[in-house]
Amino acid sequence: MQEWRRFQILSWTIFNSIIQIFWLRFRFEMQRLSMQFNSRKSVIVYWLYLIKTPMMRKLLLLVFFSTYYIIAAGQQTYWQQQVDYNITVSLNDADHTLDGAVLMNYFNNSPDTLRFIWIHLWPNAYKNDLTALSDQTLQNGSTDFYFSNNEQRGYINRLNFKVNGSVVQMENHPQHQDIIKIILLTPLAPGANCTIQTPFHEKLPFNFSRGGHIGQSYQVTQWHPKPAVYDSKGWHPMPYLNQGEFYSEFGNYTVQITLPANYVVAATGNLVNEKTTASNGKTVPIKSAPKKPIKKDIFHPQKTVEEEEEIPSASNLKTVTYSQQNVHDFAWFADKRFKVMTDTLALPSGRVIKVNAFNVTGDKDNGYWKNAVKYIKKAVLTRSERLGEYPYDVVAAAEGNVNYTGGMEYPTITLISGVNSELELEELIEHEVGHNWFYGILASNERDHAWMDEGMNTYYDTRYWNGEKDINVRKETGNSFFANRMPANLNIFIMQHIISLQKDQPIETTSDKLAGYNYDPSVYHKASRWMKLLEQTLGRSLFDSCMKTYYNTWKFKHPYPEDFKAVIEKVSGENVDAVFALLSKKGNLTNTTEKRELKLASFFSLKDTDKYKYIFVSPAIGNNLYDKLMLGAVVHNYTLPAEKFQFLVAPLYATGSKKLNGLARVSYTWMPGTDGKQVIFSLAGAQFSRDEFTDSAGTKTPLKFSKIVPSIKIIFANSNPLSHVVKYLQWKTFFISEQNYQFARDTINQADIITYPTVSRYVNQLKFVAENSRVLYPYRGELLAEQGRNFARLAFTGNYFFNYAKAGGLEFRVFAGKFFYLGEKNFIKQFETDPYQLNLTGPRGYEDYTYANYFAGRNKFDGFASQQIVQRDGFFKVGTDLLGNKIGKTDNWLVAANFTSSIPNSINPLSILPFNIPLKFFVDIGTYAEAWNENAGQGKFLYDAGLQVSLFRNIVNVYVPIFYSKVYRDYYKSTITEKRFLKTISFSIDIQNFQLKKLLPQLAL
Ligand SMILES: [Zn+2]
Repeated sequence: MQEWRRFQILSWTIFNSIIQIFWLRFRFEMQRLSMQFNSRKSVIVYWLYLIKTPMMRKLLLLVFFSTYYIIAAGQQTYWQQQVDYNITVSLNDADHTLDGAVLMNYFNNSPDTLRFIWIHLWPNAYKNDLTALSDQTLQNGSTDFYFSNNEQRGYINRLNFKVNGSVVQMENHPQHQDIIKIILLTPLAPGANCTIQTPFHEKLPFNFSRGGHIGQSYQVTQWHPKPAVYDSKGWHPMPYLNQGEFYSEFGNYTVQITLPANYVVAATGNLVNEKTTASNGKTVPIKSAPKKPIKKDIFHPQKTVEEEEEIPSASNLKTVTYSQQNVHDFAWFADKRFKVMTDTLALPSGRVIKVNAFNVTGDKDNGYWKNAVKYIKKAVLTRSERLGEYPYDVVAAAEGNVNYTGGMEYPTITLISGVNSELELEELIEHEVGHNWFYGILASNERDHAWMDEGMNTYYDTRYWNGEKDINVRKETGNSFFANRMPANLNIFIMQHIISLQKDQPIETTSDKLAGYNYDPSVYHKASRWMKLLEQTLGRSLFDSCMKTYYNTWKFKHPYPEDFKAVIEKVSGENVDAVFALLSKKGNLTNTTEKRELKLASFFSLKDTDKYKYIFVSPAIGNNLYDKLMLGAVVHNYTLPAEKFQFLVAPLYATGSKKLNGLARVSYTWMPGTDGKQVIFSLAGAQFSRDEFTDSAGTKTPLKFSKIVPSIKIIFANSNPLSHVVKYLQWKTFFISEQNYQFARDTINQADIITYPTVSRYVNQLKFVAENSRVLYPYRGELLAEQGRNFARLAFTGNYFFNYAKAGGLEFRVFAGKFFYLGEKNFIKQFETDPYQLNLTGPRGYEDYTYANYFAGRNKFDGFASQQIVQRDGFFKVGTDLLGNKIGKTDNWLVAANFTSSIPNSINPLSILPFNIPLKFFVDIGTYAEAWNENAGQGKFLYDAGLQVSLFRNIVNVYVPIFYSKVYRDYYKSTITEKRFLKTISFSIDIQNFQLKKLLPQLAL
């Protein structure tokens, strides 16, 4: 552009000089002529005479060309293509298909000759799981579309593109199935236009994203073949995405929709014609799914989709025609349940427009929607006043019970999903109607610069609400306990938290490159704050006049960020480089190094964490078999964004053991760069009872343990924000003291002496973990090296999850371990290192040598508490605990594999219960060094298999072994004489399965 401008200036100067020379000559000629002609002589004769003189002919030619040149040069600085549409379409609501034809008139206003045109066929985004849409929904944590069936998918076909009446070739996009290229038979010259036409057949998908259908409620959006934008930066072909919006050419639309007569249609633009036709003779069968009672999932509460009313479709058809000038998209919605509210609105200029609201839910007075028209009017008036008057004749909002919470904007109409309050409806209508300005009229490239529509629009939302009201807090918190502890603005809070993790991305990031958790915080909320900063830099009145000029200069055009900046600088006369540079930077917009006040609070709080350094105090309660009920307090400073220095102290008085127990942790997080790398230094400690000794008189003496654990954890940076991979390296040393009991015989007094000596030991642990928490096929690998007195231990544990299409999946776990003696192996070492040795069976409480897991009864050898196992080592569910030499216990090597599969509801016998209990089956296979001895007397490979019930988000798992190797059968037969079946049942408490990052993916943990 720079080169071109210099050329323009130079050539303009030359032309100017030539014209001036000729101008002088022209005036001289005029004077001469005026002597010859009477001033009342006809002007035509005068001009004819002019053309007759060769000198004048040259002059006129030059004036003509220079004028053309000036116009052409002006167009070089800005031009845009135009596409006018004439579409006829009919809806078949039995199979949710559209049949139609589109006729486009494409005007090439560019200075370039076009040899092909990129065409978006976005219904094909729903064709299969190889589309950009499918990839992105998986990337953002949803398998709904990926595993959807053919009936739920959609496509567009039966295309036959003709340009100016002749069939043209289509070429596929190298990457994306929802983009094609049509090759023009004759190149389209600058200033020329051509017609592009094609019939189409389209299957509407289930509404996974923004368009399709839910039952016989239709949201027909991004639905017809449409050229990609060609602008001064070139072609912009883009696949349909859920995260990432649009960019389209302006034009005039006429759309004729034919459908059963009892549908109500809401669409872009004005209804210009409606006629009902006689019955087509066919009765349209109404599909209605068999009504099933909706089952509440007690462990995974979900939103239940409202049962659709069944209204038969009329057998006669109607055709409605809509038209709208100067828009870049056209959407229509059809529903037999739509109730229509309509009114008019006088704009400040005196122009009167139509206001329509279409709602589905609500009783006869339209429920939450009863004031919808009022909200639409208010939204139109406030944006008109602050930016420029609404230019169209109609504005509307329609309700659709679609798959997302929120709204979606289209020119002159917006779709609002089911809301839970009038306030929520007003917020959505205000924002979505506001998009008529930022998207509809100021049609920026939303895919690449999402902040230009969402950020600017959100900024005006805050102006609408006077900045006083927070839009998101009230609806997400029901009771005041949580409400009082929630941040004033949840969106800004999440943004601050992500910035503190250094996982944020600059506002100026293309939508397809933004991590799911960054999209809203960045392009809506940080960008809205950036607009506020710009306002503060300029002052509100200057800012407002800049925005009005921006509107007037760029309405019905495609402004880029540099165009916006140019307007701001031209109107304000100020240099705003520094403010605009922030768009491309990570981190906070302004550096607030405000000193925070120390504040005491109960339980926790996320409120005003930028103003206060909290210390939280709250009562604490605990329980285990030996300490019994424990009461105390917890003092901590855990909040978000997390403090660099964190602490937690929880002293607990045990009512059973009459001891003061508790736990404590202090940590310091150092972030050495700006890429999210973390080094966490921590020191943790705990003290509880681990066992008890009952003497001959029945007196119980609790035996305590305590541990002190210094640790360093390095969480590596991940340069790709879209990746779900986390890698870390952790070193820990466990200093453990355990109280034991010891008998001695007092030979003089002939009495037993019981002493309780404390024994200390240590374990060094180095762990490397790489995990990918992607929604499809997540995995985790852990390499663990441990060392203590006289031993070392190496273990690898791999986990992989294979998702099933319907729900659930197969979990695969593999373990390989090797135990080493340090120095010579001898009997004492073998005995002393027993808890550290490898187990084929999931270890018991006494084998949890770092006290890492929660045990109901850590050292119980009978009763149900003794049947608890840990997910470690071979993780067999059958055990031989009463044997002196347990099967599968080894001081050498061990390898095992575990498979756990969910059981589909259709064959799950527990599905008769009124709530869902996930039933699984497991199979474990393993082997170990001793099994390969010649005199082992058992198979080399052992196995067990059975059923598993997973409760509370897989935190509690109960295992019922049904099949197992002969050695286990023999053990149960010979050793367990009573309640054999019950005693084979085991369980694990897997607190590590509770993952906040799965519950709240938006926290980017
Ligand atoms: Zn928006």
